[in-house]
Amino acid sequence: MRRLALLPITALALGLVAWTAGVEALQEGNPPIEVHRITDELHMLGSGSTTGGNTAVLIAEHGVVLVDTKNEGYGADILGHVRRLTDKPVTTIINTHVHFDHSGSNTEFPDTVHFVAHENIRRHWARTDCQPIPTNCDDFQGENAKYLPSTTFSDRLTLFAGGPDQIDLYYFGRGHTDGDTFVVFKAARTMHTGDMFLGKLLPFIDAANGNGGSAIEFGRTLTRVVNTVPDVDTIITGHWDTLLAWSDLVEYRAFYLDLVEQTRRSIDAGLGPDEAIAAYAKPARFADYAAPLEGTFSVTAIVNHIYEGR
Ligand SMILES: [Zn+2]
Ligand SMILES: [Zn+2]
Repeated sequence: MRRLALLPITALALGLVAWTAGVEALQEGNPPIEVHRITDELHMLGSGSTTGGNTAVLIAEHGVVLVDTKNEGYGADILGHVRRLTDKPVTTIINTHVHFDHSGSNTEFPDTVHFVAHENIRRHWARTDCQPIPTNCDDFQGENAKYLPSTTFSDRLTLFAGGPDQIDLYYFGRGHTDGDTFVVFKAARTMHTGDMFLGKLLPFIDAANGNGGSAIEFGRTLTRVVNTVPDVDTIITGHWDTLLAWSDLVEYRAFYLDLVEQTRRSIDAGLGPDEAIAAYAKPARFADYAAPLEGTFSVTAIVNHIYEGR
């Protein structure tokens, strides 16, 4: 039940799910996971709004690689979907970032799994004081420290190099947190973005909980992704229920940078943050992107972070 206290953050991320609905859903059984085929070897287990983030399943030669494990309590559901695709064991789990809705079921898999994550993710999870949320560092305390990532990296890491299962991990700097990892499945020309690209809405910047997010750096980090990562056609986002395209990522970067640019103009004009929020006008070309004024994923949150210099 402990994790229920954290649910509103995930719910807010999607702007869809009421707190009470989330609680009832868990009490009645986990909401279903929708499976999206990308290739015979690569599938996305959808977010379904309340299951946590999107999970990627790669059926590799030696075993199954997962990217992200949703909320706590989804280990058996994820494994059930893997079993319908292959009888190979889960051998590697990569996490895109530190939040509990992307790693909540890590400890529900055998501790013989090879856990891979950015060095900052491991550092956050290895803390003994797990406040404030929204990480699940309390999952890794005591004996469960064996679930901390055994392989970490700082900028780049390639797994299964040169073969059909090659996976390239990239870290380009701060954004949603300070450990956001972009995971590229080379053969499938597909990238999991974690919550650096939630879907067609403004991001949550986790700047106030010690997790290193930065509204100012977020756009620069996306620019590095767009300018650096080659040969990707398909995007698995953090939470969007359908697969998106590379061109969507490029457009999302422009949508975010426009908000930053409008905020800079307000700062230069001597406006205060409230005036800057009121002055923001979403360009017509981003009509299908959500940019609400209120909430965690809002113009207000991001403009205030920029005014505060973070
Ligand atoms: Zn998330
Ligand atoms: Zn997140």
